[in-house]
Amino acid sequence: MITKIIQEEKIQKAKKYVEKGESFVIVTHVTPDGDAIGSALGLYHFLTAYGKDNVAVVVPNDFPQFYKWMPGNKEIVIHEKYPDFAEQLVRDADVIFCLDFNEPKRIEKLAPAVVAADGRKVMIDHHLNPADFCRVTMSYPEMSSTSEMVFRFICRMGMFELINKDCAACIYTGMMTDTGSFTYNSNKPEIYTIISELIKKGIDKDLIYRKVNQVYSESRLRLMGYVLYEKMKVYPEKQAALITLSLEELNRFHYVTGDTEGFVNLPLSIEGVTFSVFIREDKDYVKVSLRSVGDFPCNRFASQYFNGGGHKNASGGEFYGSLADAVAVFEKGLKEFNPNKTEELDKHA
Ligand code: 5GP
Repeated sequence: MITKIIQEEKIQKAKKYVEKGESFVIVTHVTPDGDAIGSALGLYHFLTAYGKDNVAVVVPNDFPQFYKWMPGNKEIVIHEKYPDFAEQLVRDADVIFCLDFNEPKRIEKLAPAVVAADGRKVMIDHHLNPADFCRVTMSYPEMSSTSEMVFRFICRMGMFELINKDCAACIYTGMMTDTGSFTYNSNKPEIYTIISELIKKGIDKDLIYRKVNQVYSESRLRLMGYVLYEKMKVYPEKQAALITLSLEELNRFHYVTGDTEGFVNLPLSIEGVTFSVFIREDKDYVKVSLRSVGDFPCNRFASQYFNGGGHKNASGGEFYGSLADAVAVFEKGLKEFNPNKTEELDKHA
């Protein structure tokens, strides 16, 4: 028996939308990760199994190759590639599910269309401080992944039977990737009850692990070697580490989306390092990824210095300026940041 986390009233309201809606769009955040794609496709398969034949998944931009085995991935509409089509889908939808993000900003150029759309919006998410732009807001930061929430949502509507193998595989992928393959944020026993149910649906969890984690290119491994040897700076007195990569370096190693996935976690394997930051130059801005172990609230650091947020141990942000300036901001932050004095920043994290 799984605890009823999501409020009954929210389940019932969203259930009505599911029953009555004819056209559905599922939207998830920019630079979609495993939980974004997993939760979106999990819900997609559920709605399809329910008998809805007008269901689309729309993402702001492309997602890594190692998620392109997921059932249904070819149906995903990428806004960056097909903006008019994607926005038309959003405009025409009776119901819009907003998965794995807490504020319109997180879907970047897709935000105006989603915010303006008439369709009934339902947020299913596990980030702090949800913005008020959906009719139903299911926001539970204590959940380890949005995919887990999608599983709970379907079960609570009494439709567990409609979770087929494809749906289960997508949900499992999201649960696995958002917990670092169950190495953090994954001590709640119910996670394993859910996994047990997903296995009973026919998924091969070992194969899913391999499909996500053991399919990289040679150049990604060489880039990782370069990063660890030349580009990682450790600040022992601050228990911190920094990795930086410029566009030139990424191009030199034939970077494709997803190649730097997980790099930010690497320094955390150094004894004593509890805060790791990866700063990567992108086309229009500098992307910042932050990770911590234990009590250090890297989301508050992200919020204070990089206009970002996220979870206590995994957060991100953006910087508009040069890579060198971003590093300077990070080092300034390292000197002055006091986690105990920033609790109010949780409001924005
Ligand atoms: P990543 O480092 O993998 O890009 O992001 C880790 C987590 O940080 C994401 O799951 C998301 O919760 C959060 N995050 C990443 N980038 C941003 C950002 O620009 N703004 C906010 N508010 N959160 C972010």
